[in-house]
Amino acid sequence: MITALEQYDPQIYELIRQEKARQSGSIRLIPSENYVSRAVMEASGSCLTNKYSEGYPGRRYYEGQQVTDLIEKMAQQRAKKLFKADHANVQPYSGSVANWAAYLALAKQGDTIMGLSLPHGGHLTHGWKVSVTSKIFKSVQYTVRPDTGRLDYNQIEELAKKHKPKIIISGATAYPREIDFEIFGRIAKDVGAYHLSDIAHIAGLVVAGIHKSPVPYSDIVSTTTHKTLRGPRGGMLLCKAEHAENVDKAVFPGLQGGPHMHTLTAVAVALAEADTPEFIAYAKQIVKNAKALAEKLLEYGFNLSSGGTDNHLILIDLRNKKVPGKKLSKALDRARIVTNYNTTPLDPAHPANPTGLRIGTPAITTRGMKEEHAEQIASLINKVVENVNNESAIEEVGKEVLLLSSQFPVPEHFIIPNKNNPGTPHTSDTLTPWLF
Ligand SMILES: *Cc1c(COP(=O)(O)O)cnc(C)c1O
Repeated sequence: MITALEQYDPQIYELIRQEKARQSGSIRLIPSENYVSRAVMEASGSCLTNKYSEGYPGRRYYEGQQVTDLIEKMAQQRAKKLFKADHANVQPYSGSVANWAAYLALAKQGDTIMGLSLPHGGHLTHGWKVSVTSKIFKSVQYTVRPDTGRLDYNQIEELAKKHKPKIIISGATAYPREIDFEIFGRIAKDVGAYHLSDIAHIAGLVVAGIHKSPVPYSDIVSTTTHKTLRGPRGGMLLCKAEHAENVDKAVFPGLQGGPHMHTLTAVAVALAEADTPEFIAYAKQIVKNAKALAEKLLEYGFNLSSGGTDNHLILIDLRNKKVPGKKLSKALDRARIVTNYNTTPLDPAHPANPTGLRIGTPAITTRGMKEEHAEQIASLINKVVENVNNESAIEEVGKEVLLLSSQFPVPEHFIIPNKNNPGTPHTSDTLTPWLF
């Protein structure tokens, strides 16, 4: 049967087909990427894309919210339960907007924020110089220790005492070790700062209890929904009751207009999926795979930032291999291994021509790969590094990748069993009869 898209717009149809083929015929090691389930995909491609719902459940600016109110309340309840938070806002369009909303809720223009420097693993929105966050706020940046590649809580405490920031941000986009949110919380309290933790990358590991949750130690927790959490692309904020009103006001009307209801609906589904034993097993396997991959890379003589990993990602320092990060990531891409080049804390001076490579295991884990496959991938990476100027060798690796990935079809249609299927809506929340 010919689909509507195929009929109406064969060019875009064909491009989507090609992207599908690329996603299934390559190994995705970008640590912020994943594959969503069939249920999440279905919800995000649903008729909820047609609905405007500015405001919050029960307080909207448009009529016709009989269903959207129920969906958003469900998403909020699931988020609160999963993260054991007082309050959840599920409307942010992305992790960046979620961070902005947190800043807006806690600080004013000109206040000081303090976050991890980007070349050391922090996110743009944590006050990096090219981000507008560094223009609206005074930005103080902490770093990791170059010798250990780890956060230096003494340095963070000293900087906090010296600069008295309004907000201290914990969390990272390229940091392979567990972050001690409790210490961050204490430092913030000591200097009278708010503590915002950004768990965009590790939300899935937090849900599974692999990394300690920052919720008890933070004023606000910000996250994306699409990285290890494995939902649609979006953002989310969790916070203490005292900040609930400010957080909601910051998201809408402070920063956003109508929430993307199709995404929010898919977030609700992803949150239900994350509340299952299958999800916990997946999250544990992510870390096992990352450790296996790291160990094998060490055996091949790679230098890893901090010497290994506690989470889903690995930062390779390529200087001893004499291959620039950009050149290697392009060669790997030709070999169907998709990564991104990155600065490393050991060489933060070259963001334009970085000497590092960032890889991670969420996507391959969703595809069902285990430690032995992670080890195989390490050997494939090594082959490309050793043959970075040899196109036929790179092509050979590409063939091996195709073979490996064909054993693990893209789980576009995977279904997370739902033993506690909530079934019909709560009686207090039932729909008005005319809808049936
Ligand atoms: C990915 C990421 C974000 C931003 O998320 P977007 O959805 O891309 O805007 C924010 N913070 C951290 C730590 C991230 O890793």
